[in-house]
Amino acid sequence: MGKLDAQIMRHMSREDFRVLTAVELGMRNHHAVPVPLVVSIAGLRHGGAHKLLNTLLRFKLVYHDRTKYDGYRLTWTGYDVLALHALCRRGTVDRLGAKIGEGKESDVYEGYRDSDGATVVIKFHRLGKTSFKAVKAKRDYLDGRVSAGNWLNMSRLAANREWAFLEALSPHFQTPAPLDHNRHAVVMSLAPGHPMYQINHLEDPRRVFETCLGMARDLARRGLVHCDLNEFNLIVDDPRVTLIDFPQMVSTNHPNAAEYFRRDVRGLLKFFESKLKFDDFDHEPDAYDDLASIPQDLPRIDLEVKASGYDNASSSCDKRLLGGGGDDKEEGEEEEEEEEDSDDDDDDDDDDNTLPAAAR
Ligand code: ADP
Ligand code: MG
Repeated sequence: MGKLDAQIMRHMSREDFRVLTAVELGMRNHHAVPVPLVVSIAGLRHGGAHKLLNTLLRFKLVYHDRTKYDGYRLTWTGYDVLALHALCRRGTVDRLGAKIGEGKESDVYEGYRDSDGATVVIKFHRLGKTSFKAVKAKRDYLDGRVSAGNWLNMSRLAANREWAFLEALSPHFQTPAPLDHNRHAVVMSLAPGHPMYQINHLEDPRRVFETCLGMARDLARRGLVHCDLNEFNLIVDDPRVTLIDFPQMVSTNHPNAAEYFRRDVRGLLKFFESKLKFDDFDHEPDAYDDLASIPQDLPRIDLEVKASGYDNASSSCDKRLLGGGGDDKEEGEEEEEEEEDSDDDDDDDDDDNTLPAAAR
């Protein structure tokens, strides 16, 4: 079990949730929320607050921050619990299952819905899991809206972005079905099969290659470049392929769109060649990777969802995207990371539960 233990929720009273929500609200304009403010937002009789905050502390849903002034901050787990609580109340998901994926900027879990026994996927966006600089550089939909270190809000925006793409793409592409979203969490259907990086053999590699390439082309025909179209974001149920992971998609109007498209396609070619030993392509690589050669003859989704660069505004800040694939580690990204919770010296654990401390 990961850090996010959904059992916690069963032990939480309505008042616990009230206080947790009060901390969330207070964090909109406070680095850490002082107790009197928690009390007034939650509408508590004085005296009860410390006890309730202690419960939240014990479950690691809040963090007691004494660095600037005395106050409480939400942890990632606290934010997760608030999102899950809302999703549970709406009947989208009843129970949380195992963690099935972990990206640089997300944690992905299975979830179960009792009403119809469905297994769903919950993707929690965690911007700032890596570093503030890397996030800012890669995600220009945050342009102008980044208030330093507002990780909750940035993660929420990333989830909104992903939701918008999922809704717009799912009628036309093989993607998970969008089910619900709340705060930094997106709920979607479980894609059948396995991520392509785990696949060693395909019945008909040519067919799967053409499906993947077809997706890149069809996205382009609708004005989009995925920008992370690789074996980590293609789920294969031979021969069916499901496309996932959309927050970083850009418009074909984006100044770097051709470059991103080339990188996506070259990556695919390389994967099929080196891992699947398939190199019987019909054409030379140049014939596949030229964005300009693809007609934009289908209704434009980039305009509909205002994908990055759709209005041809300069987006100077995502040059790093050219540097490496989204699932690869980027050089230097750890540099700006600040250690936050010094009593907890296990890095991984810490990352899971503590919001980055960029705002100090
Ligand atoms: P990130 O942005 O962190 O890369 P992804 O959306 O790619 O997040 O999800 C991370 C991993 O979780 C994927 O590589 C995949 O293994 C798994 N995953 C995500 N969404 C789904 C889904 N709908 N169905 C099945 N597996 C999924
Ligand atoms: Mg991914």
